[in-house]
Amino acid sequence: MRPHAEEEVSQMTDGRSDSPDGLARLDMSHHLHPFTDNARLAEMGGPRVFDRGAGCWLWDSEGRRYLDALAGLWCVNIGYGRAEMARVAAEQIERLAYYNTFFESTTAPAARLAAKLAEITPDGLDHVMFTNSGSEANDTILRLIRQFWLLEGQPEKTVVIGRQEAYHGSTLASSSVGGIPLMHAQAGLRLEGFVHVEAPHRYANAPTLPEQVYAMQAAIRLERTIKEIGPDRVAAFFAEPIQGAGGAIVPPEGYLSRVQEICRRHDILFVLDEVVSGFGRLGAWTAAEHFGLNPDFMTLAKGLSSGYVPITAAMVGRRVADVLLSRGGDLAHGFTYSGHPLAAAMALTNLDIIERERLVERVRDDIGPYFQDRLRSLSGHPLVGEVRGVGLLAGIELVQDKEKHLFFDPPGIVAAVCRDQMMERGIIVRAVRDILIISPPFVVERDQVDQIVSNLHDVFDLVSQQVGLALEDQRTEAAISGDDRALEGRTALITGASRGIGEAVARRFAEEGADLILVARSAEALRPVAEAVAGRGARVTCVAVDLSDPAAAETLASRIEETGASLDIVVANAGVLGEIRPLATQTDEDMDRVLSVNLTANALLIRTLHRFLNASDGGRVLLVGSGAGTGGFADWAPYGASKAGLDALMRTYAAETRDTSIRVNLVDPGEVRTAMRAAAAPDEDPERLPNPDRITDAFVRLASPVSTISGAVVPVSIRGETSDGGV
Ligand code: PLP
Repeated sequence: MRPHAEEEVSQMTDGRSDSPDGLARLDMSHHLHPFTDNARLAEMGGPRVFDRGAGCWLWDSEGRRYLDALAGLWCVNIGYGRAEMARVAAEQIERLAYYNTFFESTTAPAARLAAKLAEITPDGLDHVMFTNSGSEANDTILRLIRQFWLLEGQPEKTVVIGRQEAYHGSTLASSSVGGIPLMHAQAGLRLEGFVHVEAPHRYANAPTLPEQVYAMQAAIRLERTIKEIGPDRVAAFFAEPIQGAGGAIVPPEGYLSRVQEICRRHDILFVLDEVVSGFGRLGAWTAAEHFGLNPDFMTLAKGLSSGYVPITAAMVGRRVADVLLSRGGDLAHGFTYSGHPLAAAMALTNLDIIERERLVERVRDDIGPYFQDRLRSLSGHPLVGEVRGVGLLAGIELVQDKEKHLFFDPPGIVAAVCRDQMMERGIIVRAVRDILIISPPFVVERDQVDQIVSNLHDVFDLVSQQVGLALEDQRTEAAISGDDRALEGRTALITGASRGIGEAVARRFAEEGADLILVARSAEALRPVAEAVAGRGARVTCVAVDLSDPAAAETLASRIEETGASLDIVVANAGVLGEIRPLATQTDEDMDRVLSVNLTANALLIRTLHRFLNASDGGRVLLVGSGAGTGGFADWAPYGASKAGLDALMRTYAAETRDTSIRVNLVDPGEVRTAMRAAAAPDEDPERLPNPDRITDAFVRLASPVSTISGAVVPVSIRGETSDGGV
């Protein structure tokens, strides 16, 4: 053991690492997590530590409670914390903790469970090989398929067909039959002899085709592939009834029975991977029962023990079992823990609970329909392309444009944001590409379903607003990034133009072709800025006014009229910080001055200049906000209050002008190096922050006649590195 590992373990045992942070750090030092960007996890400070569970609830080590709308990994079907399961486990461990099922041996739980599974699954699936994960069960099936065709004298039948986006596990063989591109890319897969056909994802592949037509087309494509390979070379076809990890892809009606029929016709074994669907998730004991199928193999896992212990099963149909039993001889396959007595005892108890509490019927007749119905109430949301699912399994496909069936590009970001937002609200869901997956335990109550749905609704509202903004911003950016000058022919009035953000925006607007009306208290201070922008070809008018004077706005209006210019853009940027000290100690004079320059003057400015903006074919008002407006800076009280007031002013004016072409937004410049900031924080390293020239992009985008955003707080984005090394 390395020295520091020893120390960590001793910290664990003496309790010091029991703190949530300690456990997360300990974990991240040594634990490589599956399907996780482990470097990113470390950056985030390590994983969330889950500590206990009861019913559908989980608690983390900090005591936060979560509604587990995913049932672990769609496995904890009977819910967490069942005392009966703990009792049976203790009894079995005391009686017989382990014996294997190799070498002519068995245990009572293994024998009983094998019989129980033969009873639960469709007729013909009468034999089982026990395994410890879904992946192992599928590997086992692949082994048995090869042996079967060898025994049948058809050794050339080796090709296995799976489907794109299918998930059958993570071992070399099961991930080869699966169709997850990243898994293949990371391991140089697929192994030889694995072929994939399209997933029957109607919404993605053919949203406008009627379901039955698409079902037929997708099945025909499978048959075409079989014919291309040659049916005498194809050993088996693998399918999840509903593709789970691939995005809750519900097959179009008739597809599964059609592909089963195609398999039969070409003498290809049909494998139904019921790792997720088995034991009631679709409101039937198996999906085979739900869809009326008779597969040659069935993979069972998760719900077999409700995740309490690892145990899974490969069900073997009569055709294969007969051959193996009559001609197979020694079956050279198996695992130390195949049919583990503890796991089998737990599985039997789990199945007993499901039967006794009529949980499958509950999913079929009561909570399943309620769940599907409530989730479908989200279908009308602009972010939601499709809600699909059966029983207690559902997927919500999020889209950029519902009418056009347009997916997000790049994919995977929006659903992940929604998932994280749900997590913030204490509800666990999963994101796959831009699909949210929801599959709660079978004991989920109606009010918990309501809670999931209302939180999803709120999150969709929030995220679609943000996405709308980001997309609009992207579109506007594309429109202004051409060679044309984005503000050619437009006139912009900029307050506080003699320095800082105002000066930077003035220079940039001039480059983009705007004419400028520059406003500041001192004509002297404006002169160099005016000369610089005039040098770039802009027509410039300078107006020296003190904005704390209520008459200033009128003065500006008359100057605009005098020059005969139109006015298209107002950038209200002038500001004073005032005394930095607690609110209770602020003087009346200072409060008045700060509020009048930062807030009242802007309100008067907008009121007075409204008539010019209304005459423009696209008036734009950009108010300059600050983190202080959200209380980000203690002791900046009057300034913060005035910036918060600007936010409210922006929203009100945006609402008032909704039906006009005037667009009003608040630009949040973030942290930049202005003279005001330098005065407020003299100890701050000036090299740490970018200078205002770096933040003018957002101003140009929002000022552009192309932009349609209104009523938004728009953060500036800074491209490249954040410090420009002393420019
Ligand atoms: N098959 C399906 C359909 C699955 O969803 C999974 C896992 O989620 C597996 C196989 C693999 O199971 P395991 O993770 O237990 O290996």
